This record gives sequence, structure tokens and C-alpha cells, in this order.
Amino acid sequence: MKSFFCIISFVSCSVLFIYNSGQASFSLRLIPRTVVQGEAALVEIEGSSFQDFLRGRFLGKEVPFLYDANSRTWRALLGIDVDQAPGVYDVRVWKNDAPAKAFITVKPGDFGTRRLTLPPSMTRFDEKTLARIEREEARLKLLWTQSLSRKLWRGMFFRPVPGEVTGVFGQRTLVNGELRSPHSGVDLKAEKNENVICSNHGRVALADNLFFSGNSVAIDHGQGLFTMYFHLNEILVKEGALVEKGQIIGRVGSTGRATGPHLHWGIRLNGARIDPMKFISLSRRFADEDSASGGTGEDSIVQRQKP
Ligand SMILES: [Zn+2]
Repeated sequence: MKSFFCIISFVSCSVLFIYNSGQASFSLRLIPRTVVQGEAALVEIEGSSFQDFLRGRFLGKEVPFLYDANSRTWRALLGIDVDQAPGVYDVRVWKNDAPAKAFITVKPGDFGTRRLTLPPSMTRFDEKTLARIEREEARLKLLWTQSLSRKLWRGMFFRPVPGEVTGVFGQRTLVNGELRSPHSGVDLKAEKNENVICSNHGRVALADNLFFSGNSVAIDHGQGLFTMYFHLNEILVKEGALVEKGQIIGRVGSTGRATGPHLHWGIRLNGARIDPMKFISLSRRFADEDSASGGTGEDSIVQRQKP
């Protein structure tokens, strides 16, 4: 089968740091300490209890912390955007106002570039279309800031279709010689009308037809974490509805700017565009939440998604 993809897209190790501020002593673990652009990292605070008050800041934004009763640690996820400049960045954490700081190194990603030659009708848009594109970009930009404050997701994240990756994350496209935005997700091989399952528990934040991404679903998993499912032939959920991990939320299609049926799957973490496949690996750190809640193994998810 020919591989299809989106033709235009818009827009390890761990180290323990121990601090003693005089008020309290706690350790801050970064997993991993060095990331590539478009990856996520996990911060774990040891030596803290459920009664503590944790807050953090990273890249100028608040970082929401969660208490994990199994490991008795406070945890937070950091998203490093695909376009984040390589360098060393501060991760600041306060436990009951006692400060701590760690450093995370961001290395450049090697995502590659592909060249496409498209007819002008597919690359030049009239004023009405440009206005629509602008409206939709603004809507999405706002959406990433409107996540629920509580955590809805639990345990590992799963891929929404089992097919292989045919369009890698972060790749840039030269369309008729013009460089476009990096690919903000992965394209997964799938047949038309194949079931698309929800990666984790959440709330439908968007279920609508958009110019580039066609019939699109965005799920808010809470605390700044979203998954997106684009180019659907059919949307099976309504905005505002609560959805469960493994639930069928749509069927694969090629709506919007796609060359054929496939699923574009993306993740936003506190606004950052991150690689979903790498996020799956990081989310294995939360697998104990699946077993604690009765178990939702990967095998059962894959079986459930087959038509
Ligand atoms: Zn794509």
C-alpha cells in the first residue's frame, strides 16, 4: 500500500539534584536530563508528602505537579517544543516556598527535510480561505491554553491505530522551494474507515472540520496535555464529552490537506509540539497507574481498535 501523509502542516539518563534551603530538603529528579527538540521530560520530587505544596516554572510557564500515591512522589511533565532553541534551561521548583533548581539540556533534532512539488491551486489560497486559516490557527492557539486543571489521563498513552509511522515527527517540507513548519505529529498508516481509538482518558476539546487537518478531534487530558487526531473520515464524539482510553472516537480518512487515508496523530504539552511516539515511551513510567486501576494493557487496546 502506498504511504500517505499530510502535505502541509501548520503551525536517557536521570540525575538527582538534592537541595537544602534551610527550610526543607528535597530532591528533584529529571528523566531524562538531556532531551532532543520535540521531546518531553519528567520531573520527580522525592522527599515530599501529599500534604506538601509543589509548584514549578519552566520556559516562562507554570508547571502543574501531581502526587503519585504509588511511588509517593510529586511528578510533572515538561514539554520541549520542536522549535525550542538548543541550549541549557532552568527547571525551578518550590516545595512549600523552599526553592530548588535543575538544568535540562536541549539538543538539536535531526528530523530531515522532504521536497514536494504541488500545483499552485494547492499552495495559494484566496482571501476567504486565508481568513479561515487564520481564524482556525487562533482557535487552536487559544485551545492549548484552556486545558482542564485536573488530570484526566491515567497510565500509559497508546497509539490510536496500530499502523507504522509513514511520516515522521519534526520533518520539514520544502513545498515548491518554500520551507514550511515542521511536521507537528506523526502520520500513521491506516486504511480508510479504520477505527481511531483515544490514547487516554480525557474530554473532547475540539470536534470540527478545519481547513488543513480536515475532520479533527483534540482531546484534553488535563493539565496542559492534549492529543490530536486529524484527517478523519468520520468524527464519533461531540465537543465537551468525556472519553475513555480505548474508546473509538472516529474513523480514518483523508479530509483536509492529505494525499490519502492515514491518521495524523499529534500531542501538545503545555503548548509545546512533542513527538507522540517518544511520549508513549516516557508514559511507561506511569504504567503502575494502569495496574492500580484494574489494568488496561496495550494488547487489549490493540484488539479493541480492530474493526
Ligand atoms: Zn501529519
